[in-house]
Amino acid sequence: MFSSKMLVCKDCGQEFEFTVGEQEFFAEKGFTNEPSRCPSCRQARKNNRNRDQGNWSGNRKNRPMYEVTCDGCGQIARVPFQPDGSRPVYCSDCFRNNSSYAR
Ligand SMILES: [Zn+2]
Ligand SMILES: [Zn+2]
Repeated sequence: MFSSKMLVCKDCGQEFEFTVGEQEFFAEKGFTNEPSRCPSCRQARKNNRNRDQGNWSGNRKNRPMYEVTCDGCGQIARVPFQPDGSRPVYCSDCFRNNSSYAR
């Protein structure tokens, strides 16, 4: 049986828990190494990688685009995700202008 243990993140130096669920997952995948980063540093690295690959200006060819009405200027905008109506959707210009409010 596994038991959760505390590890030290090599990026931020914080202790984090290597949970039983994660240990089982690692064992299932055949990983022998313990994670060397805490979940938030792992997430941050993942986000960085995604941002590098899927740049706003670059590589969006294979993504489905959805037509929506921009909540900023009322123009038709194309966005790479299905809007669920729970938050405003902006065209790329308004998105840039509003990016400080949008999150
Ligand atoms: Zn960390
Ligand atoms: Zn707009």
